[in-house]
Amino acid sequence: MSSTGLNKSNKLQKQGFEWVKVSEMFEKTPETDFNCAYPGYSGLWCRLIMAVTSYAMTKNSVAVIHGPANCAWAVRNFCQTNYSLYYGNPFLHMPVTCIDQNDVISGGTDKLVTVLKQVDKDYKPGHICVFDTCSTALIGDDVETAVNMAQKSCNARIDYIPSAGFTTPPLGKSIEQTALRYAEIMDSPTKTIENSVNILGQYKEQQDSSPMPGKKKCKNRRGKYPDDASELVRLVEGIGLNIHRILISGTHDYIKTAPQAKVNVISCPTWGFPLAERMREKFSIPYINQSIPIGVEPTKKWVTELAKFTGRELEAKDFIQRELEELMPVFERAKNLVNGKIALIECGRNSQTAFARPMALARALEELGMSVRLFGLHPLELRAKAMDFEYFMREGFDPLILNGNYAYQQPVNIAHIMEDPGQGEYVYFTQDIFPAVRSGILDPANVARVETGVHLRRVIDAPGRGVGFRGARALYHSIIEAVMFSEKTTKPTLYTRVHGNFYESF
Ligand code: SF4
Repeated sequence: MSSTGLNKSNKLQKQGFEWVKVSEMFEKTPETDFNCAYPGYSGLWCRLIMAVTSYAMTKNSVAVIHGPANCAWAVRNFCQTNYSLYYGNPFLHMPVTCIDQNDVISGGTDKLVTVLKQVDKDYKPGHICVFDTCSTALIGDDVETAVNMAQKSCNARIDYIPSAGFTTPPLGKSIEQTALRYAEIMDSPTKTIENSVNILGQYKEQQDSSPMPGKKKCKNRRGKYPDDASELVRLVEGIGLNIHRILISGTHDYIKTAPQAKVNVISCPTWGFPLAERMREKFSIPYINQSIPIGVEPTKKWVTELAKFTGRELEAKDFIQRELEELMPVFERAKNLVNGKIALIECGRNSQTAFARPMALARALEELGMSVRLFGLHPLELRAKAMDFEYFMREGFDPLILNGNYAYQQPVNIAHIMEDPGQGEYVYFTQDIFPAVRSGILDPANVARVETGVHLRRVIDAPGRGVGFRGARALYHSIIEAVMFSEKTTKPTLYTRVHGNFYESF
């Protein structure tokens, strides 16, 4: 028996896995794995990747990589294959200073100044941001002095986001450190705009509310496939407030004027809370302590707390009532189908880093009467997502998660979880671009499967990533469809026959 009294399957047990509360896994996990408790290397994508992909949501900007060509190639490759295909800026220019074996002896700051001046002349961007790398950080290149020197003769505003990969191996810490730097790009406000709200913590969406000069603003922002920010904007506007800025996105002028907003609200905790706290310290802008509203009650709470702060309680009451009238019939239908079943929620098949979104999903599934089980999160990545963890603990949400000896990028075998004696009927919620399927074993026909992986999920007229009332409505529809399909047929689908034994062996 595990510490929670649940049975464990033999196969899971042999591999050292156990079901524990999220808080217990957090407490048991060291911040850094100096004792090599986990097999393989530590960390996934380097801080440079997280920093540059956050900047890829800006416009009229150029990222200058200060380091070897290989670091730049790694980031370009990531952006093109794992980022721009789905989100954000379709192409971010990323020239590189090409630090070589001579520069690591003599220093690379002169090269950086030259490259910055050349980029300003050739690309004529509104903003340039310098990202350093392991080699230039290890030799102690003074990037800030180089930026100040170049700034004197450049038209573009130049900023610097420290991003050497070795400094913060776990992903969550990279995100926190990167998010803070956007407060440095902002100007002190000369005025406060009444009834205006910033949304902080949008990542992988290019959702600024001001179009580029000469470009028409898209009325529905993302057309018929909205993103999370589209729905959060709808919630804010639904109670009579106005969106000022959605960060991170937009041009430098757009970002630098963010402190003119009356209040900040949060989308993702790890991207949003550190920036909100820094903006509170630096510009005295308050923020609302809610985030990632997936499901009925979390969305009501997100809207109501904003309404309380801005004196819009009556508008919020009316708005919520209208929304729930539409939503509750589909909520009840979904609940009737899954009440008492087990939600297996993946936290990243291959990346093992997703936490806030699976937790928010779990919270929404509990509302439907499901018992939730999260798995596939590397313990060190949970430790690194302290912002997410603290938020859910504040909210009193502490579900079961699979703890164990995860090796990075080696997914736990879902078939072993399903063999766990004493459990029950499952619905499987995916969370990655790498599908785990096998004909007849893990197939939508024998295990109801809801595709909640945020990269690939597109839903007409609802945010595919799931926030807000419209995100909830789409989630319930997907659950109904998945359960009804699995009850209707036992024949393995073409999907699993094609994918077969992809990625891991059952
Ligand atoms: S870990 Fe360091 S050397 Fe490797 S890509 Fe990142 S910045 Fe470059």
